Amino acid sequence: MKIILLGAPGAGKGTVAKLLTAYDGSVQISTGDILRGAVKAGTPLGKEAQGYMDRGDLVPDSLIMGIMEQRLQEDDCKKGFLLDGFPRTIPQAEELKKLLSKLGIKLDMVANIDVPRDVILDRLTTRRTCSNVECQEIYNIKSNPPADGDKCKKCGSVVIQRADETEEAISKRLATYNEKTAPLVGFYEKEGLLKTIKGTSSEVVLAEIKSALNV
Ligand code: AMP
Repeated sequence: MKIILLGAPGAGKGTVAKLLTAYDGSVQISTGDILRGAVKAGTPLGKEAQGYMDRGDLVPDSLIMGIMEQRLQEDDCKKGFLLDGFPRTIPQAEELKKLLSKLGIKLDMVANIDVPRDVILDRLTTRRTCSNVECQEIYNIKSNPPADGDKCKKCGSVVIQRADETEEAISKRLATYNEKTAPLVGFYEKEGLLKTIKGTSSEVVLAEIKSALNV
């Protein structure tokens, strides 16, 4: 399947993408994960992106499009891809439309995961992420705690709170979402690709996506 997962930070895009990957082998492409990997590795991209990320701002569109133009042409995308956290602005959506048409790729749908703000705030402040950039497994200290307090159950690395998951950065990220990303709902509605799913459970979201795609 070739889908975009749209939704505020903490809406569950990453969790749903992992479930879909396990289901049909489509690859999850998270621009946030790619950028965090670049920051950790200290690459030029990471150095440029870090300040924006720590403040809860968006990284410039040109950097993101450079990453995605390459990533979408890698072999593992042929089976399908789940875009998680991209596009995040109207210019990114417009550039993506051009890029997909150039590559001859047709999107199946855009799943807009709609979760109430209080649920999102609670999820983000209690979220923890594996510090191993190859893993980045997500935990929640209330509903899905790591092993022994702070160890990843998958790879054993330390599980941390992300710098952009302090209350201040979270408020900024949600404001940025409302201003820059929420308009994509209208954009994809016009394209005839949008399906809005009201769901706080990733299993329910998964089932709705599968039924919309008849898979
Ligand atoms: P995420 O893990 O998707 O919440 O992304 C973490 C941070 O990476 C965001 O707050 C942005 O600073 C940056 N980022 C991720 N994806 C994008 C994107 N498509 N456009 C701009 N910035 C992004």
